[in-house]
Amino acid sequence: MKFYFPDSQDLVSPTYDFVNDEYSPYRVRQRDDVYAHQVVTPIPYDGILVSKAVVDGSVKGSGKYSSPQRERFYRLGVRNFFRLPEACATIGDCGAFNYIDEERPPYEVDEVMDFYGRCGFDAGISIDHIIFGYIPEESDKQPEDAWITRQQISLELAEEFITATRKSGAHFEPVGAAQGWGPQSYAHSVKQLQKMGYRRIALGGMVPLKSHEILSCLRAIDDIRSPGTGLHLLGINRVDSMEQFARHGVTSFDSTSAFRQAFMDDRNNYHSATDSYTAIRVPQVDGNPALKRLILSGNVSQAEAIAAERASLRALREFDREDTSIEEVLTALGTYESLVLGPKKKSYLEVYERTLSDAPWRICPCALCEKHGIEIVIFRGSERNKRRGFHNLTVLEAKMRSLTFG
Ligand SMILES: [Zn+2]
Repeated sequence: MKFYFPDSQDLVSPTYDFVNDEYSPYRVRQRDDVYAHQVVTPIPYDGILVSKAVVDGSVKGSGKYSSPQRERFYRLGVRNFFRLPEACATIGDCGAFNYIDEERPPYEVDEVMDFYGRCGFDAGISIDHIIFGYIPEESDKQPEDAWITRQQISLELAEEFITATRKSGAHFEPVGAAQGWGPQSYAHSVKQLQKMGYRRIALGGMVPLKSHEILSCLRAIDDIRSPGTGLHLLGINRVDSMEQFARHGVTSFDSTSAFRQAFMDDRNNYHSATDSYTAIRVPQVDGNPALKRLILSGNVSQAEAIAAERASLRALREFDREDTSIEEVLTALGTYESLVLGPKKKSYLEVYERTLSDAPWRICPCALCEKHGIEIVIFRGSERNKRRGFHNLTVLEAKMRSLTFG
């Protein structure tokens, strides 16, 4: 089972100064900043997934890449751009989420072929159009016309794509994208894609589905799946169901969720092998827009906020050196929280107590926890938050490794 990490240009600066919260004056972002596969060992994924829409920008505006970055990506190719080790695989897709509101995907087959081919991807997924709707088995509900059209578009583009890859002698493996709205319609797509000659098929649009719904689609696909066909789950990370998924032909998946939970989730920020913890919020007085507004409107005194921020960080670091008690830390955090937390928000102090008393970073074997200690559970700027995300990827990787497939 292979796990691909979708790229969103998430890098960290290895020389960031955590005590003073500043970058090295000598830092050259482009040259010095590193990806997860460069700072953590073992590498927390088997490969990366890069979307054309993320590199090129989309109809909605610019992507995650600046134009010099985009140029470098095309010039160097995916492997050199990411400084990828041999063992890491690459897969490209179009980033269908970025054009979900359009009537048709904004790309032509030849430009997508050019993207995969010129940048040296190992595999490339055909252009697809996401269907957001699910009809369970044994329901008499009818699919919307738009869903049927989107499936048709995806299949036509897949046919065009595989024909073109053959004609041009492309070096990447063509992967067919299957879209559907339920078990039978996914099976239909897979059947058609196999007929076209695809031996690897990516199942798209399943992100909102529950695991049992994914499973019933996989069971329906089983009835028509050739023994040699491998399935990829786009955007899905369900570790608990992965062994089951594997029995139905799933050989790879990709997801950002473990990474993004580090800073997007309200509570579930720091993962451990058996649990998950809430990161400790110590926002930067300078860098927090909500807090800045409170200060500007005169509701919070800036001096008081800065003092409380510093006291919180000091207490957390003393705690990590075992120089102070949890109670002292919680008092400092409570003082700062009372300034920062809006009236509608629930206090985090109770969940912080669990994070602090279990101190999961102390036993985490990953290189980042070992190096940064308590800094990794502090919810603050992106240097800490992304590292916590990278740490979560290592936990996912270890969980995947402990599963038995086959
Ligand atoms: Zn760790």
